Amino acid sequence: MDPFDLVIRRGLILDGSGNPWYRSDIGVRGGRIATIGLLGEQQGAFVLDADGLVVAPGFIDVHTHAESGLSHAPTADNYVQQGVTTVIGGNCGDAPLFVSDTFEHLAGDGISCNLGVLMGHNAVRKAVMGLANRAPTDRELRRMRAMVAKGMLEGALGLSTGLKYVPGAYAETPELVALARIAARAGGIYCSHLRDEGLGLIDAVHEAIDVGRQARLPVQLSHHKAAGKASWGKVTRTLELVDRAREEGLDVTLDQYPYTASCTNLTIMFPAWALEETNGDTLLTRLRDPDARAKIREGVTFNILNDRGSGDPGNVVIIACIDPACHNKSLAEVTAMKGLSPTPENAAEALMDLVLDSEGHGQAIYHCMSEDDVCTVMSHPAVMVASDGWVVGPDSEWTHPRLFGTFPRVLGRYAREKLLLPLREAVRKMTSLPAQRMGLFDRGLLRPGMAADLVVFDADRVIDRADWGHPKQFPEGIAAVIVNGGLTVYHGEHTGLRRGAFLRRRGA
Ligand SMILES: [Zn+2]
Repeated sequence: MDPFDLVIRRGLILDGSGNPWYRSDIGVRGGRIATIGLLGEQQGAFVLDADGLVVAPGFIDVHTHAESGLSHAPTADNYVQQGVTTVIGGNCGDAPLFVSDTFEHLAGDGISCNLGVLMGHNAVRKAVMGLANRAPTDRELRRMRAMVAKGMLEGALGLSTGLKYVPGAYAETPELVALARIAARAGGIYCSHLRDEGLGLIDAVHEAIDVGRQARLPVQLSHHKAAGKASWGKVTRTLELVDRAREEGLDVTLDQYPYTASCTNLTIMFPAWALEETNGDTLLTRLRDPDARAKIREGVTFNILNDRGSGDPGNVVIIACIDPACHNKSLAEVTAMKGLSPTPENAAEALMDLVLDSEGHGQAIYHCMSEDDVCTVMSHPAVMVASDGWVVGPDSEWTHPRLFGTFPRVLGRYAREKLLLPLREAVRKMTSLPAQRMGLFDRGLLRPGMAADLVVFDADRVIDRADWGHPKQFPEGIAAVIVNGGLTVYHGEHTGLRRGAFLRRRGA
């Protein structure tokens, strides 16, 4: 018998199914799990003593925007250091148009984790229609359908939408159904950043489920939350809608990051109509026009009160914009810096100036969720853990702690400290459930023959260290991470190995 490439001895196996642990050795050969059982004297080229440590399938993050950052930071340190071995990119409608090109480009230098991607509705619509705020013509819809079909043929795992962003916000449900049908035909799924995560949350969940019903494909509700104090508690109702859909025979699941703040563009605070581009008018021209600006201010004020502002400009923390003096200041502070009292209306003015000066760019962290809701969502069996993050390179300036801490945070804070869920259930939400969702049937469980994506961690110590003040901290307690049989993180250090595979939809 040939020696193994890698032997992990005496680990506490949490196999990803949700079953209680058992103690065993694991032998890895040729990038696969060769055997699970007592290996006695059998040798491996590398032997890892996991006595007292948990051995689980590598974590699968179904909701990321990792694909672009991987070309600058192919070692994906912020992911693999958490135990993540697979990332799914192309979420929220924002995705590469050409799947094969993306994979080929990244294959050159190699990447340290596996990558699968979704086709993105916003990207497709923008390529065909720009930022036009109208329904597509028949011809335009045909072109969009052809682009989605090509992406699916090249291995995309499904279609993502970002209906809170433009131009996705300009699409009505029939357009989504028409495109989702293409993904359905290829065996893909529909992942949606809902049209509304605030006051319109319930309707938005209905819409996503309806797309699945009409187009006949599984639905994934992305980074599920109720944004804004005015909507807190609504997740109880949305989870009931998910249960009811499942009883009806619709395969609806969700993902979530374990934080009470989101992170996205400053323009998410603007009404969608203000961002359309037609006849030379853009957000920037409208912000310079007093009448249009007054209307935009109403929309921004509304969102400060009822949506991501959660009722108080102090909840919005600017992390990227043209003016470094505003970085890490709340919108209330930025407003005060202008000599204005931080009322929602004045804060809307300050935000409009900031976006105008930044030519439409800029990012903020929005402290807009309730911890109770985070716990309610996490407790649901159809919810998986996902970061909604991206790959952080050495020169990335701004970030959110979820990029560095999501998975250890669920294991350490929510499973071990808060006892919100058993460890084996937390691991299931990071492994077999996301693998099943994405159709990655040779990952997410520990069985002979499966891909050898593994994480070894100390259940008593694993914890996130990234916080709002220091978002770029690696977690603690992750002893080793193995990607396709290759030791990628060991004793908290990245080994530099790039053994990640490109994961195409089965049959593509
Ligand atoms: Zn999103």
